[in-house]
Amino acid sequence: MTTVSSGLSPSELQKAARDHLWLHFTRMGPYAETEEVPVIVRGDGCYLEDVNGKRYLDALAGLFAVQIGYSYGEEIGEAAAAQMRELPFYTNWSYAHPRAIELAAEVASLMPGDLNRVFFVSGGSEAVESAWKLARQFHRARGERRWKAIARQVAYHGTTMGALSINGIPALRNPFEPLVPGVSHVRNTNRYHRPEGETDEEFTQFLLDDLESAIKGAGADTVAMVIMEPVQSAGGCFTPPPGYFKGVREICDRYQILLCADEVINGFGRLGAWFGSELYDIRPDLLTCAKGLSSAYASIGAVVAADHIIEPFLGEKDMYAHGITFGGHPVQSAIALKNIEIMKRERIVERVRDNEAAFHSTLAQLLDLPIVGDLRGAGYFWAIELVKDKETKTGFSDEESETLLRGFVSPELFDRGLICRADDRGDAVVQFSPPLIAGQAEFDEMTGIVGDVLAEAWKRI
Ligand code: PLP
Repeated sequence: MTTVSSGLSPSELQKAARDHLWLHFTRMGPYAETEEVPVIVRGDGCYLEDVNGKRYLDALAGLFAVQIGYSYGEEIGEAAAAQMRELPFYTNWSYAHPRAIELAAEVASLMPGDLNRVFFVSGGSEAVESAWKLARQFHRARGERRWKAIARQVAYHGTTMGALSINGIPALRNPFEPLVPGVSHVRNTNRYHRPEGETDEEFTQFLLDDLESAIKGAGADTVAMVIMEPVQSAGGCFTPPPGYFKGVREICDRYQILLCADEVINGFGRLGAWFGSELYDIRPDLLTCAKGLSSAYASIGAVVAADHIIEPFLGEKDMYAHGITFGGHPVQSAIALKNIEIMKRERIVERVRDNEAAFHSTLAQLLDLPIVGDLRGAGYFWAIELVKDKETKTGFSDEESETLLRGFVSPELFDRGLICRADDRGDAVVQFSPPLIAGQAEFDEMTGIVGDVLAEAWKRI
């Protein structure tokens, strides 16, 4: 029997979990009756172990977050303990402390261009929330009243009311309506379902026309911010077509709208560069990050602003009227600093770049399966799209998604020791986003398990 540090036995943990713990984005009904709550007790490298001693390859890096894998607890723990001894907490409201200062300088040094001003928060939703508020107040400080935001369809940007309103996923929005007003959603860069024969240039122009007409439709002088991930996660790793972000930047400049790159997933090496903004030369005014900043060893995120964004806030009596108790927490900052040190020492970002082609070609074997229609992504961030008919690119009905994806593929992957998500927030996809320390052995293992499960799923269609 696996013992865990709490001292509770597996059955006691199970009971306490059933009675008290409310899991996020989880149907709790089955756990109230028969099913066992999955309890993960430890991790090493790219692997996790559950309370029954079963091992899993984590093809999702926690939630697209654990860049360095699970084996650095000792080293990072020492950095956290040292900080606990020195200064366990102080705030960034009105005060600074060494770790937040050092981390801000370190983050700024990694950022492309003049993204130099770092405002710390506790996670990705808060980063998005803070970016939108910052964009609004930036315009107001310059004498303009702009409050609207433009995001993309099916994009996920978080769950707090502002970030949720920016989300382009109807199923997540609907239960909470009315949301914060003033958000429009434009086309994302999903290429798979576009007309046969459309060129890159035509596709890019189509997307840019859509963006510009949404801005005009909203009233260009009321739009504060356009927010986009370099590679959009929800819907399955949509990469930008050539010229897309150059065009987005030009449109934002034309209408004096701030461009925010949401790099909560993309940032800190996931795409084989420190930031997607660097990879695609996006030149955003604002950049949001979280997860990989600390490899999720701490709950810390940030909005990073270009130099010109802070200018209207530098008057004697001006301030950005926003703050969060835990923003820039010294222990969380110490953890993030140590994570970045490890990422540099182990050459994690270079490793992603070096292995990208091998990862892609291993996953490409899945395209031989009749159920796999498309493979797309970059770095260590890939998705396959599942279809019923490759010729027509027809996807699954809601009922088929329920029985086949939620009912079979996802639990079967888990049973076979792979943590990997069959996601149907847009079209049905399976995403691969392992810790950035993964290598060929892990690429083979995840491809093998997914291939076997999808071959079985095909028989059930
Ligand atoms: N933005 C993006 C692009 C994300 O993928 C996420 C979470 O997955 C968020 C924001 C919200 O981050 P968090 O869950 O830390 O609040």
